[in-house]
Amino acid sequence: MDQLNEQAWREQQVALNTHLADIAESRGLGAALQALADHQIESGFIRDRLAEVSRYVCHPKPGSRRYFSAQFNPARGRRFAGAGLHVPPEGAESVHGGCFLCARNIWWQQQGVEMGFRLPLVGGRYIAWMNPFPLAPTHCVVASDKHVPQCWGSDSVTLMKMIDDLLTMVDALPGWIGFYNGEGAGASILGHLHFHLLPRPPGYGPMPMELAARNDQEGSLIEDAYPVSFMHWRGQRASIRTRIACWLERWQAGLKDPGQTTANVIAIRDRESDGLDCYFVPRHKARSRAEGLEGVVGGFEVLGEIVCSSEADQKRLNSGEVDYAAIARILSQVSVAL
Ligand SMILES: [Zn+2]
Repeated sequence: MDQLNEQAWREQQVALNTHLADIAESRGLGAALQALADHQIESGFIRDRLAEVSRYVCHPKPGSRRYFSAQFNPARGRRFAGAGLHVPPEGAESVHGGCFLCARNIWWQQQGVEMGFRLPLVGGRYIAWMNPFPLAPTHCVVASDKHVPQCWGSDSVTLMKMIDDLLTMVDALPGWIGFYNGEGAGASILGHLHFHLLPRPPGYGPMPMELAARNDQEGSLIEDAYPVSFMHWRGQRASIRTRIACWLERWQAGLKDPGQTTANVIAIRDRESDGLDCYFVPRHKARSRAEGLEGVVGGFEVLGEIVCSSEADQKRLNSGEVDYAAIARILSQVSVAL
């Protein structure tokens, strides 16, 4: 692999991005991301690992609408090691310690098969890449085009800017779920700012967290109806943006230990709705895991679906040991009072 190959990869990127921008313009951003997924399956970057996934839905009692769920997804366990080459071939350069989300590494790590799409919103500052370890079909990781950290420190302006960017992306994606995982709240790459975007998976209805907030219109603290305390806002993007910014300022001013504070932020645009739902889940950096679950608790888990990837977890799922009460207990362990 040499510089000519990097040049060829860049030229292919330009051609693909022109094509995807046309699709986004005529059929919407979701169609463009789906076309990127199709391209990446064809190129061989995404292998059909979701065939190994099984889902378990647990109700507190028969006939109840409430539930928690678990997915057994063995490929997810390999994500901390990354995918592709770890040492650059001759002529290629590794930047930022071989960061998996820097475009200058991606071309050689994935030997030219991984392609991204620069999103035509938020000032073109983000590139969508398909997740090689997806939670569901068309799961993208949207990364900043600069190597900037995932955590916001204790700066509320930076945090609000991240939330703003997430809301803008999801607002353009009816039927999609987007989330941000902070340090110690499920993020596996701390050096490089990124979000997750995925269409609501086929066969999925409202997630348990959405059910817990379904009667809330205005923006409220939800704590008794769910094992994890969270804030919820619903409405048009501009309106919830203002309400979130006001709330965040007060919340951050009252924090006892801002250095240990982290969060999951989730935004969902229902296909039928013209507004957004935003969920803010405060977390503690030292509590990224829960007893009874080998993996970390991230945005998808706090929504109500735990993700298991080890054989031991699979045995517990198959034996019925991981039931509604067990998942509620797992989630309650990462809850932080608001
Ligand atoms: Zn990076």
